[in-house]
Amino acid sequence: MANYILTERQKQVARSGSDSGKMVCNKPSVAGSVSQRACVFCGSRVVLYPIADALHIIHGPIGCAAYTWDIRGAMSSGPELHRMSFSTDLSEKEVVFGGEPKLYQGLTELIEKYNPKAAFVYSTCIVGIIGDDVEKICKQVAQEKNIPVLPVQAPGFQGSKKDGYKVACEALFNLVGTLDLPVPKYSINILGDFNLAGELWILMDYYKRMGVHINATITGDGRVDAIRNAQNAALNVVQCSGSMAHLARLMKEKYNVPFMHVSYFGIEDMSDALYEVAKFFNSDELMAKARDIVREEVGRLMPALQWYRERLEGKRAAVYVGGAFKAISLIKALRLIGVKTVIVGSQTGNADDYEVIKKLSDEDTIIVDDSNPVELSNFVKEKQADVFIGGVKERPIAHKIGIGFCDHNHERKEALAGYEGMMNFAKEIYATTMSPIWKFTM
Ligand code: SF4
Repeated sequence: MANYILTERQKQVARSGSDSGKMVCNKPSVAGSVSQRACVFCGSRVVLYPIADALHIIHGPIGCAAYTWDIRGAMSSGPELHRMSFSTDLSEKEVVFGGEPKLYQGLTELIEKYNPKAAFVYSTCIVGIIGDDVEKICKQVAQEKNIPVLPVQAPGFQGSKKDGYKVACEALFNLVGTLDLPVPKYSINILGDFNLAGELWILMDYYKRMGVHINATITGDGRVDAIRNAQNAALNVVQCSGSMAHLARLMKEKYNVPFMHVSYFGIEDMSDALYEVAKFFNSDELMAKARDIVREEVGRLMPALQWYRERLEGKRAAVYVGGAFKAISLIKALRLIGVKTVIVGSQTGNADDYEVIKKLSDEDTIIVDDSNPVELSNFVKEKQADVFIGGVKERPIAHKIGIGFCDHNHERKEALAGYEGMMNFAKEIYATTMSPIWKFTM
């Protein structure tokens, strides 16, 4: 094994074809490895932030709020309160004497000013250390202001981004079931799509054309009242196995709402997402409409993709994303445009995900769990990748090495889901991979 891979991490790296047995994963990052993973607070914020009529207040130093301030692409068709990032801006005084009075004052002032439908209060590392009773303040303000005020216990140090997803799902679960309105028979909730660059609207259009009613979108373009009534949908359709699976499981246990996992990236997975919903409702009519949509969309898309395939054939990609479910879709989508995936990894994948990746990948593809910049840079050089698909923390790795980069994370401004998204993805991969700029970086 290469000497840039720490001894403790060697079993978290595999090569398809030559390594057998399950990958070691789902464990805390090795101290000092400079993991690409984000913290618990970040995970919770990713999930809850797109709820557009809620107040989001970060109880912690201003630095925690900086990363989330208006850089994410989650769009709203109505209110945009989520784009305001509020922080209690804790400093030395509160660290010594406690931050509860500041939180109480900030919360009450903001609720009076913005009149939100609910408020989420995020605890960060420092709050976990000084021990503010955030739950008590939330209860008090909820009673005084008569709206749900939900504590999100997310001190960054208590785990990884994945633990943050869980914390967020638990906060959401407190809202579910607090409203009871009738919904049509063929109704679904969409879980785990965050409406980045308006992607959710693309998906909703397909489902609507099929005759399926969307009850709650959790949390892309999210609304508090729809989430409160989410238990009345017939099915939870969950994208991204990591972020919202916990909420789906909680809703299954308490409200008996079944769930299924889907992905909206790439032609194959997008089409399956429509067929699986039609199958669930056991409706010939829904299935016929799903087939019509797939026929129409794929018929339009394939000739256009062919142009890109001819030009990209033989290019090599590195994929490093948050969830392994997305990585699986990306391997298939890249193959469709002639690009071979030579490195694939995720921050939060589990052993089963990595088994699927191993089977799907070409011989000698590097598969990596919870990687870091040193490993990723060396992998890219060894495999001579032409393009990197990742998020905000992978962008500088690609640019420093001098290869193309495609943002497939929460900051993206280009819709990459659905059939339209597949077309945008091909265009973006082509533009960045073939850009003449890379000749000047050698
Ligand atoms: S690790 Fe702690 S201090 Fe850093 S952003 Fe996360 S919550 Fe804030």
